[in-house]
Amino acid sequence: MEEYQECNIMILLDGKKVALDVRNEISDQVSLLLKNGHKRPHLAAILVGNDGASQTYVNAKVKACKEVNFQSTLLRLDENITESDLLAEVERINDDSAIDGLIVQLPLPDHIDEKKVTQSISPSKDVDGFHPVNIGKMVLNLPSYVPATPAGIIEILRRYNINCSGKHCVVIGRSHIVGSPMSILMAKNSNPGNCTVTLVHSKTKRLHEITKMADILIVAIGKKNFVNEDMIKDGVCIIDVGINRVKSDKTKSGWKLIGDVDFDAVKNKCSYITPVPGGVGPMTIAMLLNNTLNSAKKEIY
Ligand code: NAD
Repeated sequence: MEEYQECNIMILLDGKKVALDVRNEISDQVSLLLKNGHKRPHLAAILVGNDGASQTYVNAKVKACKEVNFQSTLLRLDENITESDLLAEVERINDDSAIDGLIVQLPLPDHIDEKKVTQSISPSKDVDGFHPVNIGKMVLNLPSYVPATPAGIIEILRRYNINCSGKHCVVIGRSHIVGSPMSILMAKNSNPGNCTVTLVHSKTKRLHEITKMADILIVAIGKKNFVNEDMIKDGVCIIDVGINRVKSDKTKSGWKLIGDVDFDAVKNKCSYITPVPGGVGPMTIAMLLNNTLNSAKKEIY
């Protein structure tokens, strides 16, 4: 594939298609496991309380498990559960050899310490990749569970054969689940990777000047249409992680999702871009499934 700086035509990075390919490959791997007498990969999810968005995310994960022939267990817990009772449930699943991966849907109610719960998950079942042991291993380039959204972005770059080596990658946002791991992965001595990385955030001065230097711009801040045509250079490859819900009179629900990048403003200037929806979003669940498959195959621990 031509190097992206030399492209004049913008190419949509179709995350929906890549995610489908990844899921089909996972399904094939499950068939192979079963054929060889192994059990189905098993993902357990803990959902505390009745937060609408969390329920939607967890349901989507359970549905995705079914589609790739994984077993799944959804443990719904009352929003008033004590921290120690929740920790006991995590411990029980840690000790259950029939379960390969465990996720605790965030956010948790205010009376529960999220860090404590995340750190109580066995690193060998931490398919979200949020445990400090997995983060540390990722930094040291050791086999580990990589957080699903950054892993999904790497997979898109890999499958579109985008040459990252030696390029300047600017990541906007420093969250533990997207921006920070993304900056580490893009700097790694690997393909995709080998970028010179700049991580910018809410306290960065002259942010526009830095984003204008980006060959690859990864945006994960949660601010609709934040990046516009004046912040980028010609030929940039843009990965838009943002998911922002805005009112729309064109949809049945009255809402639609848009990204952190003003798509219409930048589309004639960039070489590649992930749309919202249909870009990074679908990759997140696909890579969670992939981590669970790797756990079942004992490929990480
Ligand atoms: P977060 O709120 O945890 O972090 C946001 C980051 O953006 C912070 O580090 C902050 O410093 C930075 N930031 C905020 N305002 C800024 C500004 N004006 N200039 C520069 N930096 C600024 O968010 P997150 O969890 O990383 O999520 C970011 C976005 O990505 C959200 O819209 C979220 O919904 C979306 N998201 C999407 C997926 C997916 O699957 N597609 C997964 C995770 C998050």
